[in-house]
Amino acid sequence: MAHGCTVCLLKVDRKENSVFCIKCKKWIHQICSGLNEEQISAEKSLHQKNEGSYSCSKCNITSKPTNHSQSDNLILEKLNQLAAEVNEIKQTTSKTSSKFETVIDEVHTLKNVLKKFQIYQMISNSSSLNCPS
Ligand SMILES: [Zn+2]
Ligand SMILES: [Zn+2]
Repeated sequence: MAHGCTVCLLKVDRKENSVFCIKCKKWIHQICSGLNEEQISAEKSLHQKNEGSYSCSKCNITSKPTNHSQSDNLILEKLNQLAAEVNEIKQTTSKTSSKFETVIDEVHTLKNVLKKFQIYQMISNSSSLNCPS
């Protein structure tokens, strides 16, 4: 059976440093894996115990687009800013002001958006699980 690296499509010599991708179930060259030698050997021993968790860049592109996690981080950043703002207002006023309400609303909206993102990521991460309907 011919065996090729999913990332560069070239043959993988088992004497070479390589890592097993749990998604395409192929061995990926170290150079194509984005992992260093330490990570490769850690992943190899996990794979021997059937506990490998590495997935190659090709598999990651289809299952988890990077712009999702980027948006996720942006929202988190914004959320933290707003939380700091809320705390600031809380410290300067003992009563609930209209600005305070607005900021609280914004924080809640962002939290909901973030939840949707996280749910979306969970779904795309577990795409192997079929939803019974
Ligand atoms: Zn390769
Ligand atoms: Zn793969």
